[in-house]
Order: sequence, then structure tokens, then C-alpha cells
Amino acid sequence: MKYKIVILLTLFLGLASCKKGRIEVDILIKNGTVYNGVDSIPNMLTIGVVGDKIAYVGNGKHFDFLANRVIDAKGMVVSPGFIDPHTHADRDLKNPEESHNNPFLFQGVTTVVVGNDGSSDYPLAKYEELYKKNGIGTNVAFLVGQGTIREKVMGQSDREATDVEVLKMMELVQQEMDAGALGMSTGLFYAPGSYASTEEVIELAKVVRQNHGIYDTHLRDEGAYSIGLVAAVKEAIAIGEAADLPVHISHIKCLGKQVWKQSDSLITIIEEARKRGVRVTANQYPYEASATGLKAAVVPRWAESGGRDSLFMRYGDARLKPQILEEVNMNIDQRGGPENLLIVNADHKEFEGKTLQEIAQEMGLDANEAVFEILDKGYARVASFSMSPYDIKNFMQQHWVVTSSDGNTGHPRKYGTFPRKYKEYVKNGVIKLADFINGSTSRTADLLGIPKRGKIQEGYYADIIIFDQNTFGDKADYQDPFQLSIGLQYSLINGKLSVEKGTYNGELNGRTLKKE
Ligand SMILES: [Zn+2]
Repeated sequence: MKYKIVILLTLFLGLASCKKGRIEVDILIKNGTVYNGVDSIPNMLTIGVVGDKIAYVGNGKHFDFLANRVIDAKGMVVSPGFIDPHTHADRDLKNPEESHNNPFLFQGVTTVVVGNDGSSDYPLAKYEELYKKNGIGTNVAFLVGQGTIREKVMGQSDREATDVEVLKMMELVQQEMDAGALGMSTGLFYAPGSYASTEEVIELAKVVRQNHGIYDTHLRDEGAYSIGLVAAVKEAIAIGEAADLPVHISHIKCLGKQVWKQSDSLITIIEEARKRGVRVTANQYPYEASATGLKAAVVPRWAESGGRDSLFMRYGDARLKPQILEEVNMNIDQRGGPENLLIVNADHKEFEGKTLQEIAQEMGLDANEAVFEILDKGYARVASFSMSPYDIKNFMQQHWVVTSSDGNTGHPRKYGTFPRKYKEYVKNGVIKLADFINGSTSRTADLLGIPKRGKIQEGYYADIIIFDQNTFGDKADYQDPFQLSIGLQYSLINGKLSVEKGTYNGELNGRTLKKE
């Protein structure tokens, strides 16, 4: 009897060891070098996707997979889709012709954040509905812009807010947080956000804190314009400390020769704050040129108080004009002089591709006067080559710095940021591939509070990219900033393919992501 049991047991164990489990999946990705968004080394793993989620991650040896679609990722990198925490993609997402979001999609980005720099589409609920109705090519998450809220309540006025106005702004911030914003952004460099005192921002940040959101900021000064870069970083930290919420510094940089190499002291200041328990992080784009509106770059804020018409009225006032021109000159110098200010995008197309110096010469004017001739013809966006490679690398190597594009029309960063960082900084050994991936996926999701994205892990949403290690790279440059990046072979968003064999398939698989 005993003998019989042993035989049966042996038979059973024998069967169990060779019997494989069976898993049905929609998409199976096999043979790829998988970076899961967290670990520092990759693994050869099999990934099974069911519906919009990752259902299986493992070596696959003990299972037979029944898959509708098999992707052989041999020799390629498999990574969570990139999350871009600072973009101006809302302009494209609103436009059904551009809502595919291809400039970001081809970088490997599967989620973009919009509403940065203090400026957001208002009300959020309306735009969320619009995106849902029209369809979008990548996921999108929202921030509420402090400048937008201030303008709703106070217009372009540069005065201090009254108690009642602060209460009204707090109500609107709450409304936007209720609609699903991840937090509040400020653009304290830009009007009208710049007219707000630190205390005013803290009051609004406290509302965000009650909703467990983050404070994202374009600093009041990234160079030597007003209070200075160091003071601006300290202000951001003070806001986070006073309102007790995480601080995220957008596109951290040292803008202009006057502040080059200040990255060392800034890193020390931030590290010290982190040791005190302030949750300070930052994002960064890998370019030496910044880009912004010509007016924002060189016109003093006091001169534009009240808006565009007020600016031209003051400029026309013989008592104010000399001072305006003098300050514009100083700001042009900060950006490296008129020969270093390149118009990359303008309502008046003839200005595009020319430097401020070239335009001034054609007009027979001084550069500061030419600024007003250009502004008179509409909006103009300017790129200025004002960062040093030393500071860029220094910030990039900090574990609390994640990748962002700040993508907007006219600067190559909108099309090239993530692949460029890979090509120029990973391949040249400035940072490791896993650090680049982790700092473009899970770390970004964690600091923003985006649930269940940014990792290749069972139960997570299937936002997955597959790229060719040899060819992944940017093509966009300042001469032609509209070139899609290359080397991305596949992109899955919410479990559905958007890019297959390097080609966009026309699907709009993105969703609007809300704070939970
Ligand atoms: Zn910005």
C-alpha cells in the first residue's frame, strides 16, 4: 500500500513539473531587454498585456501563452512609457488635427502634463471633456495655473490681492483640484503670476496641500533678472515648507552667464531642504538654449502691467520710454546679446529664423527698439543660448531631477528631448540608461502622484515602449525643429498599440488622467 502511494506521488510530481500553465493575453512582448522603471539593471522578461493592464511579467518558462499579437523585442529595450511632467502640449491636444501628439509620441512619451508655468486651460472640466470627446494620442494629466486663476479674479493688475480676492482664488483652485488637477503650477517669472507675493502663493498652495497635490513652479527668476536665481529657489522651498506640500522646480537651469556654475550651490540648498523633510524635486530638458516669448524675455514686468495695450501706451509716453528701452537692453544682455536671440516662431512669419540683431539691422533700428516693432506685429517666441554644459550635466546627475521637455512650438525640445538625452548623455556616459529610464517613468509618476503608471509591473497600466538602442535619437534642431525623433519601434498606450514597427497607426489611445 505504502509502495503504491509513493508511485502515485512520483507520477503526480512528475506531471506537475512538466505541465505548463496556460495564459491568454492580448499582446505578448518577448525576448526584450526589460528596464522596469525601478531597478538599476535590466532583465530578459516576457510581458503579457490583457486589456489596458500588464497581466504578466516574468521569465515565461512555466507558461504557454495564447496571444492575439506577439511582439519579438529581441535586441531592443523595453521600458515603461515616458512621462513628461512639463509640456505645452495642450495647444495641440485641443486641435483635432494635432491631437495625435506625435511630436511627443515618437519620443517614447505616453503621458504629458499640461497647465505648467502658471497657465492652464480653464475650467479644467471643460477641456477634459473636450479631450475625451475628440480623442488624444497620449495620456494627459493636468495642473491648475496660478497665473490663470489670478487673472480670472484680478485681471492683469500688478497690485497686491485683497483678502477677498485671495479667498476667491482659493475657491477656484479648489474647483480645479476637484476636477482632477495633480497640483498647482506657477509662472512667477511671467505676468500676471509675477505680481503675486510669496504669501499669496502660499495661501493657494495650502488649498493644494489639502487635496494632496504638488506645487510645480517656473521660478520667479532663473537668472539675474529680479531677485536672482538663488533667492528664487529659496522662495520655492519656503512655499513648500509653509504650505507643507511637495515642491517641483520646473526646467531647472542657470540662465545667463551671470549665474553660470551656480548649480553647485543650488544643489546644496536643495539637498539641505530635502534633509529637513521638504520634498523638493526638479525636472530638466537637455538643451543649452531656452525659449520663451520675446516680451517675457526682455520687457520689464512693470511696463506690461495691465496687458499689451498698457505696454504700448507706456512705450509711447516720452517720460517712460527711455527707462523701458534701458531695461530692455539690460535684459537682452542677460540673454547673451541680440545676436544670441533667435526668433523661432512668430505671428509675422518673416521674423522666423532670424536673430534679433539681424531684424534690427534690416529695420535700421537699435535692437531694443526693434523689439517693439516685432511685438507690434504679434506674438514672437525666442530661443536664447544661455546655459552652460557644466550646469546641465550637474543637475542631470541628481537623483531628484527627472526628464521634461517643456515642449512648445519652435524649440527642438518639443520633438527631441527624451531621445536626445539618451543619445547625448546616456551614450556618452553622463548618466546610466537605467537612471535615465527610471527618471523618465516611475520617479516622475511618484512625484506627480499619478497612480499605476511608470513601471512594468503586474497590475500597472500597459504604457510600454520598445526602442532600438542603436538608433534611438533626436532629429529636430534649431534650423528645423519639427522633425520627429527616430528609433522608437513600438508604443503601447493603455494596452493598445499606437506605434508599430516604427510607424504611427493613427489610433488615439490616450486618456485623461485625474488625481485619485
Ligand atoms: Zn516654464
